Amino acid sequence: MILKEIKNIFQAELKGIYAPEETDVLFFRLTEAYFGINRIGLALQPELVLRKEEDDRLFAALHELKQHRPVQQILGSTLFYGLELKVNEHVLIPRPETEELVDWICSDYGHKSGLSVLDIGTGSGCIAIALARNLPGARVTAVDLSEAALETARENAGMHGADIRFIREDILKAHKLPEENIDIIVSNPPYVRNMEAREIKKNVLKHEPHKALFVPDDTPLVFYEKIARLASGHLAKGGSLYFEINQYLGKEMIKMIGDTGFKNSILKKDASGNDRMLKAFC
Ligand code: GLN
Repeated sequence: MILKEIKNIFQAELKGIYAPEETDVLFFRLTEAYFGINRIGLALQPELVLRKEEDDRLFAALHELKQHRPVQQILGSTLFYGLELKVNEHVLIPRPETEELVDWICSDYGHKSGLSVLDIGTGSGCIAIALARNLPGARVTAVDLSEAALETARENAGMHGADIRFIREDILKAHKLPEENIDIIVSNPPYVRNMEAREIKKNVLKHEPHKALFVPDDTPLVFYEKIARLASGHLAKGGSLYFEINQYLGKEMIKMIGDTGFKNSILKKDASGNDRMLKAFC
């Protein structure tokens, strides 16, 4: 079929699910990944015709998009901090906000070598791998509760030659951290309250792991508090905690962190202007 016609079919079929501009972005993300054709490519060859197998590929993806499946899951991968990472329904799709968290750590610690790093709730492994690749000689450990997530993270680490120690652990049940003298502890734990579910897009709600997204409404800081308590007194000198946080809970986070023995905490906004990251140190 003529590619431009398929693009029109995408627009018609995805009406009501995505805004027209979003649909075009998704369409070209698929054509770029499948056939190396982007918006400019189509503008230069407006009558471009695809082969039947190529049409079928796009229509299969359209079917998935109509089920609200995120395009990253359809393609099986996404880009995070310049690294291509495998994603599936067992892991949270790495977000730009999390890249900002990694960036903060790299700007604070990028000049130091041989640091020990712990990533709690690693999911796809995105934070651990980005830090292993960007902090010179870092020794990185990553934990997650989900074996399926760890399998994905291991594969991603392997793809990027990142030598990371992966451990399966339920941090809420842990009595101590898997390492002593850690320089950097980082975590992007579940932080969405059930009462905030209506703010979450349908593609996320239907296809991303709820265990990675949601915390009970009444104890939304449970992961942070547990990590801070385990870490208090066990970080290396000059070490820090870095968290991605619920944008509505910045103040509560600062108070809780103070109560666990960390004297200093700094809140940082993400590119959308929301309180999204917190750093704590003694
Ligand atoms: N650490 C992973 C990420 O930042 C997973 C986070 C999660 O599943 N809550 O994407």
